[in-house]
Amino acid sequence: MENDAKVIPIQSAPYHLSRQAGEAENMLDHIVDDFPDNPQSMAYFYDLFRRVYCHGDEVKHEGMLVGTTCIQAPEELIYAFGATPMRLCNGSYHYDQKGADFMPAKSCSLVKATLGMLNSDNVIPRIGKPDLVVNPTTCDQKKKSSVMIEDMGYAVYDLEFPNVKESEASRVYWQRSVRQFTARLRELTGKKLTRKNLQAAMAKTSRAQAAFRKLHNFRRKSPSLILGKDAFLVTNAYFFDDIERWTDAVEKLNEELAQRDQSGFKAVQSKAPRVLFTGSPPIFPNLKLPLLIEEAGGVVVTDETCSANRMLYDMTAVDEWMVNDMVDSLADKYLKPCTCPIFTRNDDRRRRLLDLVKDFNADGVVYQAFAGCQVYEMEYRSVAEEFNKAGIPMLYIETDYSLDDKGQLSTRIEAFLESLKNRKKHRA
Ligand code: SF4
Ligand code: SF4
Repeated sequence: MENDAKVIPIQSAPYHLSRQAGEAENMLDHIVDDFPDNPQSMAYFYDLFRRVYCHGDEVKHEGMLVGTTCIQAPEELIYAFGATPMRLCNGSYHYDQKGADFMPAKSCSLVKATLGMLNSDNVIPRIGKPDLVVNPTTCDQKKKSSVMIEDMGYAVYDLEFPNVKESEASRVYWQRSVRQFTARLRELTGKKLTRKNLQAAMAKTSRAQAAFRKLHNFRRKSPSLILGKDAFLVTNAYFFDDIERWTDAVEKLNEELAQRDQSGFKAVQSKAPRVLFTGSPPIFPNLKLPLLIEEAGGVVVTDETCSANRMLYDMTAVDEWMVNDMVDSLADKYLKPCTCPIFTRNDDRRRRLLDLVKDFNADGVVYQAFAGCQVYEMEYRSVAEEFNKAGIPMLYIETDYSLDDKGQLSTRIEAFLESLKNRKKHRA
């Protein structure tokens, strides 16, 4: 007898029901719904993350797509060749677990999540397959990722990055490396680098940076006009949003902050402890620590991380507007001011941290180190000594993308903020 049972094809679940959509949605709901007085102009960013991360909407781009795995890849060059840069560093616990299937257990969450995302069928942000992945040879985990990314079927370019930044030899080495990167982009796009195109690309990023700096300066105000969770969301959007649209939205937010300032608006209580955030970068949806700080009544007023301040603050100083000089000036911008702890020495990072505490009138510092990130873990000691000497309290937290330690971290953060409040009271 003929078996007439029908084979029902397995339908993959719609994206919005997936684990990564749920993870993003929980985080976004928390950011939006659990805090009063969100700036109205943040609606652009809430909606952007909702569409891209929760609904899986496609992120459109112009020309070829060049994925970058670190802020050290000069994005102005990518724009100048008519391509679009997209930062691939990922903050999802879902992808962190995907990465853990094939990476050593002690790898940092950021690297595991980035590779887990690249190795997934369901890549979010939905960007399409990058025509090239540029992997600056910074920390060991990033370096060793190149071959793994290549094995997944991507074209990978190792952008050679020096370990020392003070010497003239490293400067020359890096400038040569950036010129070689230019040659690779020419080969990829079939286009020529012209002064006009590079100038236009630099104008694009300068405008974005100017908008960021204005936002950064508004965060000096005490009491704060905006919470750190929103500021991190804004800078995280820079990873994948259209740069012009992003800049327009930040300018609009700045106008609203100017109005808030004029009207004497307070986003937090006057006594809220002001926190400088540093260390491994908060990347959506992993905004766990900034949110725990602000839920407990503190406010993140500034940061020294590569998902915000370090990514957008430093501008290019050009002496000669000739194409080769412009490329060298760009190279300088990506090396000299960089305060990532991957360098052998990092006096600049300690200096910058002290300056930020002073300029933003911070009461204390929270230092996040992703478990497995040796450079942040090792550099912690010298940073702690510096803060200790200056009498600035610091809380060191080793964590990852999972939410398992949330309860324990929240207790430590509350106790830290309480001690900052008491200190403030005694000083007053
Ligand atoms: S921590 Fe340093 S090496 Fe890692 S992505 Fe950020 S800037 Fe690059
Ligand atoms: S957090 Fe540490 S290990 Fe991870 S990418 Fe950054 S420097 Fe490398």
